[in-house]
Amino acid sequence: MNLNYTYADLADLLDAEQTQPYKGEIKAVAYDTRKIYHAEALAFFALHSEKDNGHKYVLDAYEKGVRCFVVDERVELPDDACVLTVEDTLEALQQLAKKHREQFAYPVVAITGSYGKTMAKEWLYSLLKDDYQIVRSPKSYNSQIGVALSLLEMSHEHNLAIIEVGISEPDEMEILEDIVDPTLGIFTGIGAAHQENFESEKQHVKEKLKLFKHSNFVFAQEEYASPFRRAKINVEYPSTPAKELAKLAATPFKSTLENCLECALFLGRQPEDMEPILKQLPTVASRMEILIGKKDNVLINDTYSLDLHALEQAVNYLLSLKEKSQKIAVIDLTLSSEEEQRKIEQFIANYPIDKVYYIREEILPETLDLVENAAILFKAKRKSFIKKEIENFKEKKHDTWLEIDQSAILENINHFRSKLHPNTKLLCMVKASSYGSGDVKMAHLMESAGVDYLGVAYADEGVDLRKAGIQSPIMVMNASESAFQEIIKNELEPAIFDIPQLEAFIGSLIRFKKTNFPIHIKVETGMNRLGFSEDDLDDLFELLQAQPEVNVKSVYSHLASSDHPSSTFNHKQAKRFAQYKEVFTEKLGGGLDFHLLNSSGILNFPEYQYSMVRLGIGMYGYIEKQPGLKASLAWYTRISQIKIIQKGDTVGYGQNFTAEKEMHIATLPIGYSDGIHRVLGNGKGEFFLQGKKVHTVGNICMDMCMIDVSDIPCQKGDLVEIIGANNTIFDLAKASGTIVYELMTSISKRVERIYLQN
Ligand SMILES: *Cc1c(COP(=O)(O)O)cnc(C)c1O
Repeated sequence: MNLNYTYADLADLLDAEQTQPYKGEIKAVAYDTRKIYHAEALAFFALHSEKDNGHKYVLDAYEKGVRCFVVDERVELPDDACVLTVEDTLEALQQLAKKHREQFAYPVVAITGSYGKTMAKEWLYSLLKDDYQIVRSPKSYNSQIGVALSLLEMSHEHNLAIIEVGISEPDEMEILEDIVDPTLGIFTGIGAAHQENFESEKQHVKEKLKLFKHSNFVFAQEEYASPFRRAKINVEYPSTPAKELAKLAATPFKSTLENCLECALFLGRQPEDMEPILKQLPTVASRMEILIGKKDNVLINDTYSLDLHALEQAVNYLLSLKEKSQKIAVIDLTLSSEEEQRKIEQFIANYPIDKVYYIREEILPETLDLVENAAILFKAKRKSFIKKEIENFKEKKHDTWLEIDQSAILENINHFRSKLHPNTKLLCMVKASSYGSGDVKMAHLMESAGVDYLGVAYADEGVDLRKAGIQSPIMVMNASESAFQEIIKNELEPAIFDIPQLEAFIGSLIRFKKTNFPIHIKVETGMNRLGFSEDDLDDLFELLQAQPEVNVKSVYSHLASSDHPSSTFNHKQAKRFAQYKEVFTEKLGGGLDFHLLNSSGILNFPEYQYSMVRLGIGMYGYIEKQPGLKASLAWYTRISQIKIIQKGDTVGYGQNFTAEKEMHIATLPIGYSDGIHRVLGNGKGEFFLQGKKVHTVGNICMDMCMIDVSDIPCQKGDLVEIIGANNTIFDLAKASGTIVYELMTSISKRVERIYLQN
């Protein structure tokens, strides 16, 4: 958020009663103290929710440094807090959003419907982003609060806004229409309910369409023609070009995509420019996972919650999958009370689902195995046994995969956050495809966790993140001259480590007519890798002071032995860094960030946090002897074949192994090109089968390796754990003669990554 209101503006806009005036500007608003990382220039809105009351947290916000509060109840705060008292804090927030939105004349596209809103928003963004500077709702912010926060993200740097709007109660839409005032709209549709419910469906559409009362045009499917006509709203149905283009994308949600394409065509995008984008549309992270199943089935995995609201969304998704005529729902009731079961059954009865399986014991019906060419929804509570069962319905393209537990990563990030001072910023390193775990997905996760900065090693990595819609500031540690153009175009922030590099970068900025471009300065404190040393500083400051093209955001260095808390070298480096800080502050003034610590630094040297830290491996939970951290990776493969060999037979290249007795040897489809280091051959590598340890036999091959399974009854297709609950990544790294960092980043790209969310 980048607002620029004075406190007086705010009091005025909100028609609020105020205590003493707050001196600073208001640049952002917040309502959740857990997500406050910069308290400066922040207004805290104490909102009410069903479960909680924001007024309980005002002191917490105060302690984090917030001084400006908007409340509708009496609060006790120290004297230097500036408090605005309003009638109703949610209305005040919405009022602020409305006034803010009114400043901008550029188009606002609002998206509503009962499914696919976030998807439509992300797709429309991808289709338009080359021609427009777009502000869009963060994540799936579509509640009353979320819509207001989304609008507050609008600024003069943008020329188009895409806002997702959802309602949970009948009268909300009118309020939201007033605030959002959409110029254009996309209506994704609502799930088809039963005939006898036709009245309520009509009502439902009518309510949703209120959002578009004053819109110029709305993009929707033709089946909604009559409600649009009745509401006198201009509507555009997908034209032939939009329909043809939609065929290029691999998605079951064609109608949503057609609406987005029609909107993009309307906004002047050329079909040929959108073709390449359609071939790699972003998949939208949601609770629902859409999977390709065996036997041409499409699977909707939504095993998160079973309340009626979640159920309605999931059923709507199911029914929107037009290309599968058969719709099946599998609903696990084993964790529901009788009352809940009754409600669910009543609810489901309203929908034209071809077959509903209610599961009342922890076993799935065998007839489910026979289903072909259908859309199957698996709906269950979070702890359901079904989660594991879904594996058996998935088409298995790969026999080797790496599971990445996103919830563990978020927990780890929060663990580190709990070690930081409230105002310390957090930069997360996503270099090397986020340590091998997958670049874009991890960056999105970190963005959603509200981290302040992302860091990459090379400009290309940063460009990929921007292409995927990452909006956070991104620091590039190795910014080479050949990448300067991309850096500038994509608003990446280079780390500068010597004078020739800085001069060249300034040259590029002059060519692009840019001033005040953010850069970071790397200083040498003992690592002897990259960085300015003390002797270079005079030249550096001379250049910085003469050139308005660059704006130093931060100064940093890196500890060589942060994982050795007793090493005095750390303190030597920190001392040198403190001297740099003094000089930089004197020459460039306050307002710079300083950062020295990586993951183990954060744990071992809390006294050197300065104003920012750089978290890497710790996010994955891989710092030894840290009980607060959770392992986030698991690596599995399946047995390809089992052979029985006799005494005297040899195994693998070079006949490095000779059997001394009859043995059962299993071949695994995973070799050194997947990241199983060759040193793990000939018994050094240990994996787990059915929870029991197994050893490698013979040399590791490029794409395969062999293990001894003589003592374990098993068969082709059985799961083998490379890393997981039994085999820790530390064990495997040690056996491979390396460190976790190298192991993680050497897991080959061809190993499928699967992202879990619990
Ligand atoms: C990779 C990197 C980090 C993160 O290090 P971890 O040990 O993974 O936490 C921090 N700072 C710099 C400069 C890096 O290159």
